[in-house]
Amino acid sequence: NRTTAQWQELDRDHHTHPFSDPKALGEKGTRVITKAEGSYIWDSDDNKILDGMAGLWCVNVGYGRTELIEAADRQMRQLPYYNSFFQTSNPPQIELSRLLSEVTPEGFNHFFFAGSGSEANDTNVRLVRHYWDIKGQPKKKTFISRHNAYHGSTLAATSLGGMGYMHNMGGEGGSLLPGFEHIGQPFWYLEGGDMTPEEFGLMRAQELETKILELGADSVAAFIAEPIQGAGGVIVPPATYWPEIQRICKKYDILLIADEVICGFGRTGNWFGSETMGIKPDLITMAKGLSSGYLPIAAIGMQDDFFAVLNGGGDINHGYTYSGHPVASAVAIANIHYIRDHNLVEKVREDTGPYLHAGLQHLVDSHPIVGEVRGRGLMAGIQLVKDKASRTTFSGDEDAGTVCRDHCFSNNLIMRGVGQSMIISPPLTISRIEIDELLAKAKICLDATGRDFGL
Ligand code: PLP
Repeated sequence: NRTTAQWQELDRDHHTHPFSDPKALGEKGTRVITKAEGSYIWDSDDNKILDGMAGLWCVNVGYGRTELIEAADRQMRQLPYYNSFFQTSNPPQIELSRLLSEVTPEGFNHFFFAGSGSEANDTNVRLVRHYWDIKGQPKKKTFISRHNAYHGSTLAATSLGGMGYMHNMGGEGGSLLPGFEHIGQPFWYLEGGDMTPEEFGLMRAQELETKILELGADSVAAFIAEPIQGAGGVIVPPATYWPEIQRICKKYDILLIADEVICGFGRTGNWFGSETMGIKPDLITMAKGLSSGYLPIAAIGMQDDFFAVLNGGGDINHGYTYSGHPVASAVAIANIHYIRDHNLVEKVREDTGPYLHAGLQHLVDSHPIVGEVRGRGLMAGIQLVKDKASRTTFSGDEDAGTVCRDHCFSNNLIMRGVGQSMIISPPLTISRIEIDELLAKAKICLDATGRDFGL
């Protein structure tokens, strides 16, 4: 057993972190998380911290669920690993596929497994291009997505994503592959200007049509987006947006991919965000809540019509050592049963989701630096502003999100800061009392952030 200081020193010396540099923290060092239960995590100094982010939007059933732990234990003893490359399969991956056909939207009956959301989105790129090849339209190769979208960190997923700072990691545009195009995001609050949300939603959706016409419909393979954009700041499109996107995809014979990595498995008050937003995609990407993050597993779901074409193309020359990993699949099965048996989706839709949003709305009405609150179910973004009337954010080096995130850390609450938004995405098992604690702590941290900026 090491002390916190020892862990931090070793972390600094040997561990390269995704998306952050522990050296930049100086003396403070990283917070070392050692255990978890329910909605709480503990650090190596035994601080009990309310996890308002369910890890990284993924621990949907909360921590410490024996049903998932025992499923992993049983499966590890029975068959810890086997592949599905050699015309072989195993019961957990078969059963998980069957179960997914029950909980995913109508018409999704075929599933391909991967190890992460990024791999699953890479898989989408390959399968969709293969689909158009089989259909005799090999020119249809280009993917369109949105600025400020996050679809993962592999090369193709980074290219699908719309985050400039990720594209530029390898130098000027170095990580952006050819064949990936981006349109504007439906972020009315900061980008809508004088338009109504409805006008703005329509305008942003029509950017897709403009882009398709510019590229030529015969070269566009698919449009991919999250039903509600998560890491971009929990951006809920205006009501006019998705129907127009759906119309355009249909008109130009462009496949629609819903990235459900965050929105899936109850987060928005339905099993899938596509249901919440009224979308009928051809493909869906799933990860995170599929196993509540207990083990890495991801999947893509294919609509029957899409699969019928793909299935006519012979072998799918694509796969991962861990596609349909038996232990991860067994955990995913137990996870889906847990969500069902505890009515978590209904609970989010009818009880805890509205309760959280009512509490957050109170902050919008009363707090000087809260401009708006967005989201559905147990997925929320708090927009930080310097001036409410003009919707002016803290800009430049006034990184209010990071300041607020650090206040949350000091107050034993995890809220993620992305840009000028604070993100809330707790376990779906969170109780009303725990939501009260979350809201009370959030207010303390917003107050402290406001004070730091003289507001
Ligand atoms: N898609 C979305 C919408 C995500 O939020 C993420 C991860 O945050 C991914 C894809 C990538 O998933 P993973 O980190 O499992 O590769």
